[in-house]
Amino acid sequence: MERRVIGIIGAGVSGLLACKYVLEKGFEPIVFESQPGLGGVWTHTPETTKLQSSKQAYQFSDFPWPSSVKEEYPNHNLVLKYLESYAFHLGLLPYIKFNTKVININYCSVQEGEDDFHAWSHCGGTTDGSWSNPKGKWEITTTNAAVQEHPEQGHQVHEVEFVILCIGRFSGVPNIPDFPPNKGPEAFINGIENPCTLLFRNLHWSVPADSSPFGVLAVLYLSRFSELMLHKPGEGPFLSLLVTLLSPLRWTISKLVESYIKFKIPLKRYNLIPAHRFSADVTSCSLAVTPENFYDRVEEGSILLKKSKRFSFYANGLTFDDDDATAPLETDIVILGTGYKGEVKLRKIFKSPTFQNYIAGVLNSTVTLYRGCIHPRIPQLAVIGFAESYANLYTSEMRCRWLAHFLEEGFKLPSIKEMEKDVLEWEKYMKRYSSGGACVTALHVWYNDQLCKDMGCNPKRKKGYFAELFQPYGPTDYANLTPGKKIN
Ligand SMILES: Cc1cc2nc3c(=O)[nH]c(=O)nc-3n(C[C@H](O)[C@H](O)[C@H](O)COP(=O)(O)OP(=O)(O)OC[C@H]3O[C@@H](n4cnc5c(N)ncnc54)[C@H](O)[C@@H]3O)c2cc1C
Repeated sequence: MERRVIGIIGAGVSGLLACKYVLEKGFEPIVFESQPGLGGVWTHTPETTKLQSSKQAYQFSDFPWPSSVKEEYPNHNLVLKYLESYAFHLGLLPYIKFNTKVININYCSVQEGEDDFHAWSHCGGTTDGSWSNPKGKWEITTTNAAVQEHPEQGHQVHEVEFVILCIGRFSGVPNIPDFPPNKGPEAFINGIENPCTLLFRNLHWSVPADSSPFGVLAVLYLSRFSELMLHKPGEGPFLSLLVTLLSPLRWTISKLVESYIKFKIPLKRYNLIPAHRFSADVTSCSLAVTPENFYDRVEEGSILLKKSKRFSFYANGLTFDDDDATAPLETDIVILGTGYKGEVKLRKIFKSPTFQNYIAGVLNSTVTLYRGCIHPRIPQLAVIGFAESYANLYTSEMRCRWLAHFLEEGFKLPSIKEMEKDVLEWEKYMKRYSSGGACVTALHVWYNDQLCKDMGCNPKRKKGYFAELFQPYGPTDYANLTPGKKIN
C-alpha cells in the first residue's frame, strides 16, 4: 500500500521529533528546511548561549545526552551536536530537504471571502473527528533558499495529506518595539564610546545558576503536588476548593524561594526585586537562569542596569520617556533583545486569509490550539512548538507522540465546539496566572495526563503513591509510553 505523505515544515527540535514519530507510524514524511543544516535556533546563537533548562529536562525521552557532556546546562554547540546525533541515529536525514524554504501552504480551494463554516465543510477534513478519508490536500510551495537570484525559478509545489508546522517561535520576525516618527532606529547615527547598559522594562525572578531545577524547586513547582495548588482548565468543585485551601501554602512556598534567591543573588543591592511572586514567573514561563558571573560584572561596573518603561532613539543613542525623565544614553550599538513575533511568521505561511485569521487573529499575539497542537477550524494540520514549557523539547516530544497516534487513527478528535471550549478553558487558565501567553510549565503533568488519556496510556508513570505525588515529572518518565489500541 502507498504510504501517506505528511509535510513537516522546519527541522529544528520540533520538526525532528515530528519526523521520528510519523515515520514510526508508517507515514512518509517530507521535512522542508530553509537552512542548510538542522537544529533551528541552535544553529545561530551568540557564542555564550547555554541551555536555560537543565539537560535532564531538555532531552529526548529515549536518547540520553552522551556521558561526555558533564555540564548541567550545556552550551549551544553541544545542544546542536546532540540534535544532529539524534537525527543521524534515527536515520532522519534522508527525509529532510535542506535549503528548501516554504513560501506558503494552501488547502484545497478555500477562497478569499468564503465564510468560515462554508470553507470548513467545503474542504472536508476532520468534521467527524478522524481524517481517514480526507477530502482536501495541502499544497506546499517551496523555493530553493540557496539560490539568491531569480528564486521564483526554483518554485515547486508538493501535495501532502497532512501538514505539521514546526517553524519555531523564537526566530524569524523580530519583535521590534513601535517608535514615534523620527524616534526609531533611523534617528540613531552613532556614539563615541561603548558603554554596556542593560535596559529592561519589567523585572523577573531568575534562579542562581547553581540551583538544579531537578532539586527542591522541581518538587515545589513541577510535581503533581505543586499542581494541586493551581486552578486547572475544566477542574471540578473538589479540585477548585483544594486550590483555595492550599493558597496559603502556595504563597509561603513562593516567599521561601524568593528569600533563598535574595540570599544567593544581590537583587536588593541593585533594586531588582520584582513586585510579583516567584510563582507568577513560573506559570508564565518568564523564569530564567542567571548567567554565570553576571553580578560580578555588575559589581565591577562593566554592566550597568537601567529600568525604563519606554525608550526611543536619537542621533547619539537612546532617550527615555519615563515620568522621572533621566539623561539620554549615548551608545555606539543598540542590541534589541526584545524577542520575536512568532505568531506573525505562523500567520504568513498560510495563503488563505481565512486561515491566517484563524491561526492568530490580527489583534491576538497568542496562538491557542487544542492540546497545544491543533486549530479546531484548520483541517489536516498541526502546529508543534508554539506553547512554552520549562523544557520545550520535552513538550514537543509529548505533542508529536500524541499527534502521530491521532494520525494513525488511534483516537478521534472531539467536535469543533468541544475543542473550542477546551481551548477557552486553557485561555482562562493562562489569563488567570500569566496575563495571556501559552505556558504549560506549572500544569505540565495535568496537561500530559490529558495527552496520555487520549492515547489510552496510563498517565501515572511513577512507582508508588508518594513518588507519584512529589517526584517531579520529566521526559524520561514517558520513555516507554505505549499508546492504546486503534479505534475502529
Ligand atoms: C537563544 C535561545 C535559547 C533557548 N534556550 C532554551 C532552553 O534553555 N530551554 C528551552 O526549553 N527552550 C529554549 N529555547 C527555545 C527554543 O526555541 C526551543 O527549545 C526549541 O529549540 C525550538 O525548536 P523548534 O523546532 O520548535 O523551532 P526552531 O528551532 O526555531 O526551528 C524552526 C525551524 O524551521 C525552519 N523554518 C522556519 N520557517 C520555515 C519555512 N518557511 N520554510 C522552511 N523552513 C522553515 C527554521 O529554519 C528552523 O530550522 C531557546 C531559544 C533561543 C533562541
